[in-house]
Amino acid sequence: MGEELGATDIVPSLEVSDTFEEFSRAPSLEALIQLARDVVSDPTWPTVRAWTRSGRSAVGCFPVYTPQELMHSMGLLPVSLHGGGESIEISHADAALGSFLCSISKSTLELALTSRLAPFRAFVFPYICDVSRNLEGIFPRAVPGATTHMLHLPQNFHSAATVPFLVAEYRRLISKLEKAGGEPYRPERLAASIELFNRQRAEIARLTEMKRLDPGKLTLTESYLIRRLGGLLPREVHLQVLERVRGQLEERPSRPKDAIRVILVGPFCEQPTLDLLDLLEQVGCYVVDDELLQMYRWYDPIDPNGDPLENLATAYVRSTMDIGVRATPTTKGEAILRRVEAAPAQGVLFLTAKFCEPALEDVVLYRNALDRKKIPYLHLEFEERSAAYEQSRLQLETFVESILFD
Ligand code: SF4
Repeated sequence: MGEELGATDIVPSLEVSDTFEEFSRAPSLEALIQLARDVVSDPTWPTVRAWTRSGRSAVGCFPVYTPQELMHSMGLLPVSLHGGGESIEISHADAALGSFLCSISKSTLELALTSRLAPFRAFVFPYICDVSRNLEGIFPRAVPGATTHMLHLPQNFHSAATVPFLVAEYRRLISKLEKAGGEPYRPERLAASIELFNRQRAEIARLTEMKRLDPGKLTLTESYLIRRLGGLLPREVHLQVLERVRGQLEERPSRPKDAIRVILVGPFCEQPTLDLLDLLEQVGCYVVDDELLQMYRWYDPIDPNGDPLENLATAYVRSTMDIGVRATPTTKGEAILRRVEAAPAQGVLFLTAKFCEPALEDVVLYRNALDRKKIPYLHLEFEERSAAYEQSRLQLETFVESILFD
């Protein structure tokens, strides 16, 4: 699988304190955003290194959904893996994966083959697509010694057997995590973790609602970076960050501009680059609803009472989340129209990862519904390491003008 770098060849750049206090005490919102940008752009996982320095274990979670409450309850740090972004060159993974696959699969494998995932004890891959399934097959050889688990998620949401099936899947995961440094599963600890994650999701919901109601208050990239920290920090710290950000945003003046309101559909797994997110609003779009980082908006508050494992499974099954890797094909058209109306939005931006079949299949269903209602849309594809966006800029500008001057 190519010449591998040893862990000692990787030079860590950003250092984070073991208490993570630089996040909860950042002197200003702007300083926090910059810190988030630095952490997200650093492929040596500064927050994971800080967590594991004292002997604690971290679990890498491939998008789009993993039961992170469960990992947290076992004393593990669940960390959302979103590939290597713009920050790494692909020089090893190309030999193991076809050129016609999405970037996140290659950059995630590249991180593994270059020992950048050494701080992790375990990896969980949800079975969202063939690419994710195959990565799980390759990982034990790419990261020897780490535990790897394929999480099977139900696609039939109406059977009486669905919740018991998912509970059984969670129990399989528990036994793997216990062998990978996790403390024994205890229902009361899961109930406490569920309450903590409920609060985290409620704060993220407030943040995204603020963006919807007053999109001049914070940019899409700012909102994204604050949310992205949610998969990198201990959740207790992220909750403090979110609570502080809420207060800072309430005091921040809005900076309205002449822009069209759009919803962003498609980037539920691989994430667009920060430059591309910046570009969307620079050209005159207000992104008032998006599919970025859905993990932190997956369901309504979960009841911590009763059997917490069953409640966690039930919440997943009952979630109204409707994205490319969650099958409810007959309602896709209605779903996109409802979202446009709820935003409310003047158009839809499809931003799909190149070679992401689940996202592309849905675009067809969405477009049919939008065409019927004459709602404008634009479809762009992206890759993690795109260097220039001149063509995208032109397409976006034309799209914005066609709505503004309609
Ligand atoms: S970007 Fe699409 S194809 Fe690639 S792993 Fe994610 S869901 Fe699968």
